[in-house]
Amino acid sequence: MTREELQALKSKIKAMITKSESDIKDMEAMTQPISPENAIGRISRMDAINNKSVIEAALRNKKRKLYKLKIALANVDEEGFGICSNCKKPIQQGRLILMPESNHCIRCAGR
Ligand SMILES: [Zn+2]
Repeated sequence: MTREELQALKSKIKAMITKSESDIKDMEAMTQPISPENAIGRISRMDAINNKSVIEAALRNKKRKLYKLKIALANVDEEGFGICSNCKKPIQQGRLILMPESNHCIRCAGR
């Protein structure tokens, strides 16, 4: 990858981090405890609890991704960035751009 491509990737990772952080904030607001005195009725309360666990699972994924994005951002200038941690071959550039948080090439990630 050229210097310019790396710089572009770096700003993309930063934008993804900002986006993830605001998504996480929104989702955390949605997973506030549901108070029993809420006058939403039993059925809608069950709906709310179901939605809550779906959101909580998504939230965990988001947080994991955010963590990996931060690592990617910290490593983007390092020698080994963009090298598959499994087979030590360069990760396809298209994949790096789509999923900069990944440290495996398409082949190894698919295994
Ligand atoms: Zn690989």
